[in-house]
Amino acid sequence: TNGGGRDKDPEWKKTLFSKATSYGKVTDLSIQEQRRSLPVFKLRTNLIQAVSENQVLIVVGDTGSGKTTQMTQYLYEEGFAENGRIGCTQPRRVAATSVAKRVAEEMGVRLGQEVGYTIRFEDCTGPDTAVKYLTDGILQREILVDPLLQAYSVIILDEAHERTIATDVLFGLLKKTIRARPDLKLIVTSATLDAEKFSQYFFNCPIFTIPGRTFPVDVLYAKEPESDYLDASLVTVMQIHLFEPAGDILLFLTGQEEIDTSCEILFERMKALGPMVPQLIILPVYSALPSDMQSKIFEPAPPGSRKIVISTNIAETSVTIDGIFYVIDPGFVKQGAYDPKLGMDSLVVTPISQAQARQRAGRAGRTGPGKCYRLYTEAAYRNEMLPNTIPEIQRTNLANTVLTLKAMGINDLLHFDFMDPPPVQTLLTALEQLYSLNALDDEGLLTRMGRRMAELPLDPALAKMLLISVDLKCSEEILTIVSMLSVPNIFYRPKEKQAVADARRAKFQQPEGDHLTLLTVFNGWKASNYSNSWCLEQYVQARSIRRSQDIRKQLLSFMDRYKHDMVSCGKNYTQVRRAICAGFFTHAAKKDPTEGYKTLVEGTPVFIHPSSALYNKSPEWLIYHELVLTTREYMREVTAVEPKWLVEVAPRFFQVADANKISRRKRRERIEPLLKPYEGHNDWRISKVRHNTS
Ligand code: ADP
Ligand code: MG
Repeated sequence: TNGGGRDKDPEWKKTLFSKATSYGKVTDLSIQEQRRSLPVFKLRTNLIQAVSENQVLIVVGDTGSGKTTQMTQYLYEEGFAENGRIGCTQPRRVAATSVAKRVAEEMGVRLGQEVGYTIRFEDCTGPDTAVKYLTDGILQREILVDPLLQAYSVIILDEAHERTIATDVLFGLLKKTIRARPDLKLIVTSATLDAEKFSQYFFNCPIFTIPGRTFPVDVLYAKEPESDYLDASLVTVMQIHLFEPAGDILLFLTGQEEIDTSCEILFERMKALGPMVPQLIILPVYSALPSDMQSKIFEPAPPGSRKIVISTNIAETSVTIDGIFYVIDPGFVKQGAYDPKLGMDSLVVTPISQAQARQRAGRAGRTGPGKCYRLYTEAAYRNEMLPNTIPEIQRTNLANTVLTLKAMGINDLLHFDFMDPPPVQTLLTALEQLYSLNALDDEGLLTRMGRRMAELPLDPALAKMLLISVDLKCSEEILTIVSMLSVPNIFYRPKEKQAVADARRAKFQQPEGDHLTLLTVFNGWKASNYSNSWCLEQYVQARSIRRSQDIRKQLLSFMDRYKHDMVSCGKNYTQVRRAICAGFFTHAAKKDPTEGYKTLVEGTPVFIHPSSALYNKSPEWLIYHELVLTTREYMREVTAVEPKWLVEVAPRFFQVADANKISRRKRRERIEPLLKPYEGHNDWRISKVRHNTS
């Protein structure tokens, strides 16, 4: 099914995966046995009774007790799906798909029929679907269209302890829905001790506890702080593999790149040790993992060998892998951070909280007594880690959330019933951003543009860019660019063939920048009739570009549904660049006379990523798609722009008053150069007219 992508997998993936597949086929009988062995099974009757008697129920239970896979089935078996679907939300796409697959298997049905899933850009449900797993983001979109959620009879807000923005927003929205729909059941599940708080929030509803089945875990700390946690992790893996008794290993790393690199290094180290050493099956887990590989992580390692699962924090709670005896916890996680004053979103590697550290350690004690290797000192655990993780809603850009709420007619956001309200400054920044995008009017009410933006399953800036491209007669091109921006890693760059890969990429590079390079790659692939061998030759990730093709199709159906014209600008790329400005004017940067660039809004020093088409060109002005902080703050996907376009497409932004006077002056100073070319040209001067958004 995913032909080309597979052929280009590095060696370690090919060998190890094919070995792992031939084992661990589970028969129907053992699946039923497995179901009965889960802690929740003994409580089936009590659970059903509790759900029948209460409209809202909090369910607490350790990870792996069967909440996600069993509760939906019990309710289905008891007829709760007769008047609507049983919906179960997951914070992560991988969890939604892998759990749906598992449950379909347990029920002996085809995935997409009685049991299905919906994640963004992928709907695997049908008219018969009674049990539906979906991301919390999807349910947030569904509730926007139908606030009563009439298609459902039960909603399970699963993994609520993760406190994603979508879950937090759903808390507030569902509270209204259940008041209006006495027949709708709501179950909120949590793996941790937030249960009391959840119960208080939901009208003091009862808490149903599933007693755990856990073994003691020995926690070992590093004596000294580790300067290189990646290296320390891999050394620990090898030590366990060579010197510790049987049992699988779970290592927590922060992201896909880190995980893939580690898999490769481990594979090489194992190869160097030769055939005398027992086999080590190396398995990566991250959200972008293709689904055929996802199921491999659950297969038991064949006797005499050991499995190492290297995962992002997905394996902390959302995905449970049996047979883990050793956990290696370097103490970091990659999470979204947002600076409302800078209006800047970024993904940063940060220390985990004590709660997360405990949760990670617990993963070693599910099958028997285990060990957890913490690659940080005990003092760091006690003194430097926060007791609890900060909910996402308090540390992320809320533009998307605010747009959704506004589209639902919820205008008074300061008084919305948030379980933990976001900082007021973050709300104001979101309002200001939506105002400058023309999604809100002077009174903060949704405009027509705002309504259209909310209809698209895209972040506000991308939605705006796509909608404007219709007027700028380049929607064909922008649709492709948006789809390509929505998938990571289009270019394939294996370590041993970097020079060839870079040369191939250079052929696609466009003088105007990376957005147009992405367009050129997609069109090149299209001209090859979407061929896999073309991808191989061009060092393009077949799997990624195919996914962007899927996303494009999905978005195209939205464009059709809402009657937005698809028009091509041919080679008139100026229009494309203007459309990019219209969505991302807040991501403008100006060349710094000394070195690198400065962002327009706050003057942060930033740099063009070496892989960019503009790396050696350094245009005076550019727009970046995102910032990534590695050794420096790098701009990814940049396009050269004319400063006058910025003022043309976002007059409101360049006139808007900031609540903070100092920052207004700062902003003015930075914006002034934009206007130089227009001196004496009334239309473009920063006018004295100022809108007040707050
Ligand atoms: P909880 O939601 O309480 O954490 P789950 O219902 O997710 O528990 O998991 C129950 C059991 O089902 C676990 O032992 C887990 O290993 C198993 N399981 C879950 N998903 C899969 C899958 N895709 N393949 C095989 N086993 C799975
Ligand atoms: Mg679960």
